Amino acid sequence: MKPIPYGRQHITQEDIDAVVETLQSDFLTQGPKVLEFEQKFAAYVGAKYAVAVANGTAALHLCALALGVDENSRVITTPITFAASANCVRYCDGTVDFADIDPETGLLDIAKVRQKLESQPKRYYSGLIPVDFAGMPVNLEEFRKLADEFDLWIIEDACHAPGGYFIDSNGEKQMCGNGNYADLAIFSFHPVKHIATGEGGMITTNNPELYEKLLTLRTHGITRDPAKMHENHGGWYMEMQELGYNYRMPDMLTALGISQLKRADAGLQRRQEIAKRYDAAFKNASNLKILNPAAYKEAISDNVFHAYHLYVIQVEKRKELYDFLRTKNIFAQVHYIPVHLMPYYQDLGFKKDDFPLAEAYYEMCLSLPMYPSLTNEEQDYVIASVQEFLQHA
Ligand SMILES: *Cc1c(COP(=O)(O)O)cnc(C)c1O
Repeated sequence: MKPIPYGRQHITQEDIDAVVETLQSDFLTQGPKVLEFEQKFAAYVGAKYAVAVANGTAALHLCALALGVDENSRVITTPITFAASANCVRYCDGTVDFADIDPETGLLDIAKVRQKLESQPKRYYSGLIPVDFAGMPVNLEEFRKLADEFDLWIIEDACHAPGGYFIDSNGEKQMCGNGNYADLAIFSFHPVKHIATGEGGMITTNNPELYEKLLTLRTHGITRDPAKMHENHGGWYMEMQELGYNYRMPDMLTALGISQLKRADAGLQRRQEIAKRYDAAFKNASNLKILNPAAYKEAISDNVFHAYHLYVIQVEKRKELYDFLRTKNIFAQVHYIPVHLMPYYQDLGFKKDDFPLAEAYYEMCLSLPMYPSLTNEEQDYVIASVQEFLQHA
């Protein structure tokens, strides 16, 4: 069996043609494909505006800047995420805090966030960064209520969940990143994500002021709009009005994104199929726990559409299983080492036992191969290998 990774991109001839066509055009960066990708992506997730950026981390950084994060800001996120969800606050000299997870879903526990907010004076915290971990949509309606109570902004880290949704209390479908409850949402187009462009990211929002601000920050803080300029020296004139960055996503990669977006729904459907096959194989295993199995989701609500970036199981002998699968050429992965245990965050004062549920989750979690081009044969081999291990564990 050839190596089976936990996630991988899927590139078709149509994708390749789309990139080559752009290479032969007049624009390698900031041409017509950028706006086209932004508009199509915004439509896909149901948001008004989208801003394509260099990667998901740049997206988070620009969101923090646009919301005015500075040395006086304190922001709560989940320890079970990729470090960038927290780092964006540090880029702006803000203070990162965490709240523990709900062990049933792996998501930031809103009750724990509330406890934290209530333990401090009002306006002590300035924002929340919930993450649609593994592709499971966060209930942003609940987070919005809490955020309004404490006057907080919300950045939804939706890197794992393009196409995912939950149904809100009005019975309305709320797509991850649609901007109805969060101020800003971000996505990544890293090769393991649903839409893969190599590097790439997107910010979505319904807020026109934030949208304008993001466009300027993405390109050095420069404006060429005569209506906004202090002076005008001629056709060449532009003004750098604030400190921005070069966080642009090039035309070639947005062309790839447009092509990939056409297959996004098919990819999601395949991810759901793969999850159902894993669920069926493991539902009766006594020494294995599935994070968010289909049956569990139905029990809490029919109203969550999991985007399955990751398929996570939990086992006691996680390290042994990880090593065993590697001998079978199966490259399962661990998502995530809790962010607060990273040496950088320990240097900031976090320590072991700060978030015991996240730490307990980490000890047992393993992400099995999950990507649309995984064949049934490959998946059966993964399942058989896990079962072989469990029989001897
Ligand atoms: C991938 C990812 C990011 C960062 O995206 P990059 O494009 O790799 O910079 C941020 N948050 C989460 C949850 C991610 O999975």
